[in-house]
Amino acid sequence: MLDGAIGVTVDDLNAAIDVREAVYRTVIARLEGRRPKSADVDLLNKWAAEPQLTPQLLRSGGIRRAGTVAQVLSSVAADLLDLVAGPDIENVKRCAHDGCTRLYVDSSRAKNRHWCGMGTCGNKAKVRAFRERQRPQP
Ligand SMILES: [Zn+2]
Repeated sequence: MLDGAIGVTVDDLNAAIDVREAVYRTVIARLEGRRPKSADVDLLNKWAAEPQLTPQLLRSGGIRRAGTVAQVLSSVAADLLDLVAGPDIENVKRCAHDGCTRLYVDSSRAKNRHWCGMGTCGNKAKVRAFRERQRPQP
């Protein structure tokens, strides 16, 4: 979300973990047809109400993305609110790879995506399938 690295305190890291976990639990609750926890909704609403990242237009025509950890967390929380209340929530899936807990929005046309990313879990699944095919049959 930012063009460069920024300093992060232990409190920033803990706040980011709290937001990440609240986002995860809220989306999982939605996927399972449950109401999210009040504490998670309150936390996400609190962060979404804070000032968000604001891109800056450069004279070159590019955009510079800079900000604080609080602005990043605010933007993440606001994005989550838009996701949960919008049409893309119907396309949120859990990664099919064993042991992966990532969620993703399946934006493929056929809605047949299985993994969080081809560079990670998709590749591992392909390698495993290849090895299964190469294994001598008894
Ligand atoms: Zn995955």
